[in-house]
Amino acid sequence: MSTYFCRACVTKGMYTPVDPRRVMAGFSTCLPCGKADAKKVKWCVTITAHKGAYGVVRDKKMLKCLNKYSNGE
Ligand SMILES: [Zn+2]
Repeated sequence: MSTYFCRACVTKGMYTPVDPRRVMAGFSTCLPCGKADAKKVKWCVTITAHKGAYGVVRDKKMLKCLNKYSNGE
């Protein structure tokens, strides 16, 4: 598995590796950048549905249902 660098850090000329677990979770930023992003927008998660449509996840419960590693709880 190759190393991913934080997309936000790269724009600042830095190459911060992103935790592989974050990459697998769909994040392309390192933890500090991810936290800064989370502060800017409280709930704006865009997911790609199976049929290629984009949807905004507003409900945390729905988000958990989308996670195949969760049991829908
Ligand atoms: Zn970063």
